[in-house]
Amino acid sequence: MSRASLKPARISAVLPGSLAAEVGIQPGEALVSINGERPRDLIDYRFLIAEECVSLEILNSQGIPRTVELEKGIDEDLGLEFETALFDGLIQCANACPFCFIDQQPPEMRATLHLKDDDYRLSFLYGSYLTLTNLPAAEWERIARLRLSPLYVSVHATDPELRSRLLKNPRAGLILEQLAWFRQHRLQLHAQVVVCPGWNDGDHLTRTLLDLAAFRRPVDGIPTVLSAAVVPVGLTRFRPPGDELVPVDAAKAREVIQQVETLQVGFRQTLGSTFAWLADEWYLLAGRELPPAEHYEDYPQLGNGVGSLRLFLSQFEQLKLPPELPSPLKVLWVVGNAVEQAFQPVVEQMNRIRGLQLDLLPIASQFWGQTLTVTGLLTGQDVLNALKSVENLAAYDGLLLPQIALKDGERFLDDLTWQEVQAQVGIPVVRVDGGPAGLVQAVQQLEQGYAYGTLCCSATLGRRETAPLTRPRTALSRGS
Ligand code: SF4
Repeated sequence: MSRASLKPARISAVLPGSLAAEVGIQPGEALVSINGERPRDLIDYRFLIAEECVSLEILNSQGIPRTVELEKGIDEDLGLEFETALFDGLIQCANACPFCFIDQQPPEMRATLHLKDDDYRLSFLYGSYLTLTNLPAAEWERIARLRLSPLYVSVHATDPELRSRLLKNPRAGLILEQLAWFRQHRLQLHAQVVVCPGWNDGDHLTRTLLDLAAFRRPVDGIPTVLSAAVVPVGLTRFRPPGDELVPVDAAKAREVIQQVETLQVGFRQTLGSTFAWLADEWYLLAGRELPPAEHYEDYPQLGNGVGSLRLFLSQFEQLKLPPELPSPLKVLWVVGNAVEQAFQPVVEQMNRIRGLQLDLLPIASQFWGQTLTVTGLLTGQDVLNALKSVENLAAYDGLLLPQIALKDGERFLDDLTWQEVQAQVGIPVVRVDGGPAGLVQAVQQLEQGYAYGTLCCSATLGRRETAPLTRPRTALSRGS
């Protein structure tokens, strides 16, 4: 796409008190150019506004152009937010991985959940994983020129033939040359390996991790591959027939843990870092204790579900819990059943707060057909079904829903909103966000809402009145 044909970037918000607000830029208007250059994405935008004088070409909501001149500090933000980070559209995936989660959804899921992104801009901006199989020379050149590092790369296997089979793309076999390109340009990346039993496990997994570790050794003081995450393949009942994939069971999980833990010992000796970390799901699937906090170093793969449970538990231990609640409160906390055991100490500690009864409701997803479900995959239907079997639900003062299962801050993957869940269950719902502090805050919000009579809920017939209490946030996804 040529620069001249780029669409203007639609402005979704203007931060109060910002430079953009001062000069009267409004949400709903669009940014055409900065100092005569049309940005193709948020990355261009950030580079282009890093000037002391900026001239913005703005279209108002009727499409009428105007120019806005601004003087600013070179690092000063304008205070604009955009509907999308990619003004020229999403770079889509060119692979056909049999384990692709997007192909394992029912066709009626909303259209945005069927988009297969494989876009290095999203990787740089938000840490989503990409495969590097769809980049023309100009995009490689841009990554090097703008120093877009670190990126997050789905490697899966370093053996060229195996990676091509896994991604169903002959270009996938170039991964080792591409890692060498990163090294040559002093750019860095984090890697992930999604383990599909019978495909890239066993000796292939060992080879892949050793190949990646070779790129961890610094050249001129700079390591290329900063970390690797080893993740079990996730399968649902909607996967295409004949995909030749086998789910990870407890025995396979124990085998992979032992294999990777053996390699980790060597990595710590040779690299001074554990380097390759196992996603939390392995320990949950195997019924094994999570490693201690120090195992995860600075948690380089937290967004990929590596160490997030340990971090939650460690942070919870640091919390100073209130000794009691001013008035008694009975609360039900919804989680995926994969974390049921891991969260028992949290529930026990919370129940030492006098006046609080916190009950865990661990749910396996019937929607996805999984016996062990991580919280982020729960659907609204799963929650409603599970609540049907809760004895005397009306005796609860509130329901805690995990924010991580609400993909746009409002709705579950099956499009049910948390408000619809609240309306159907007839008790107040509070979304839990932000780690263990968010859990305590959610309980306090429920308690304070009752104390000050600020909760209202049309569905609570005859009960205390209740209302939505938290603002929506966006959950992260694992990506390619
Ligand atoms: S898993 Fe990722 S790379 Fe593979 S087909 Fe799906 S979106 Fe593309």
